[in-house]
Amino acid sequence: MKQIIVIGGGAAGLMAAVIAGREGARVILLEKMNMVGKKMGITGKGRCNITNNADMTEFIKNTPGNGKFLYGAYERFSNEDLLELLHSWGLKTKVERGGRVFPESDSALEVRNTFMKILKKYNVQVHLNEPVTSITVKDDRVVGVTTDKEQYACDAAIICTGGASYPLTGSTGDGYTLAKKIGHTITDIRPSLVPIVTEESWVKDIMGLSFVMLRYPLFLKIRYRPSNSGK
Ligand SMILES: Cc1cc2nc3c(=O)[nH]c(=O)nc-3n(C[C@H](O)[C@H](O)[C@H](O)COP(=O)(O)OP(=O)(O)OC[C@H]3O[C@@H](n4cnc5c(N)ncnc54)[C@H](O)[C@@H]3O)c2cc1C
Repeated sequence: MKQIIVIGGGAAGLMAAVIAGREGARVILLEKMNMVGKKMGITGKGRCNITNNADMTEFIKNTPGNGKFLYGAYERFSNEDLLELLHSWGLKTKVERGGRVFPESDSALEVRNTFMKILKKYNVQVHLNEPVTSITVKDDRVVGVTTDKEQYACDAAIICTGGASYPLTGSTGDGYTLAKKIGHTITDIRPSLVPIVTEESWVKDIMGLSFVMLRYPLFLKIRYRPSNSGK
């Protein structure tokens, strides 16, 4: 039986741990925060926009950059496969405007709790408040993972530490350092979904208002605050 260590318990880590468990591995999920899925809990304004029911070509078309890169991944596991899996775990979903799929309960926490239930089913050991500090490689193979508390031997480790946005949820970019230390090349990271801080205070009054700027620039002094600044 293989020992797999999943580093990080966000959306990716929860899925990786569940699938590794289902395939018969012994799985330990190491999460540095006091709970898993912290970011998942705030997605979709607390409702979790799980996926979209569009077909694969639409997904590719709407992916910035080289969307075609994702063909292989979608072939192996599509939005339909995801929904089938979640439904088989008892999570009911609904489709809203624009094909967006949400849990029927409108609760992102229900999605997280569903994963928690399935982690138990596959005997995944979840260790909270345990940040991973390094990965050990021997003869070109990952053989262990070290946290601030312990050292674990393993046959493989899956880095699921997320990006570097919204550090309060735990994603502080640790995965880049962990991967770099064991020889991976890390490209420059760029913000995608980030907070914007303005000097004008009236902006708070229109919070939540969406609009499209076509011709007229809005004269705001916008200071970009890197989201991994932790402030
Ligand atoms: C406000 C907001 C709303 C969003 N809404 C949606 C939405 O509705 N639908 C959607 O699909 N996406 C949404 N997203 C994007 C979505 O949240 C992310 O794409 C998703 O969370 C990425 O999952 P992940 O598992 O890769 O990373 P994360 O969810 O960031 O999880 C990474 C995990 O790794 C842990 N970790 C980090 N470093 C270590 C370490 N050294 N040791 C151990 N653990 C570590 C972190 O604590 C965290 O739990 C939203 C994002 C934000 C910020």
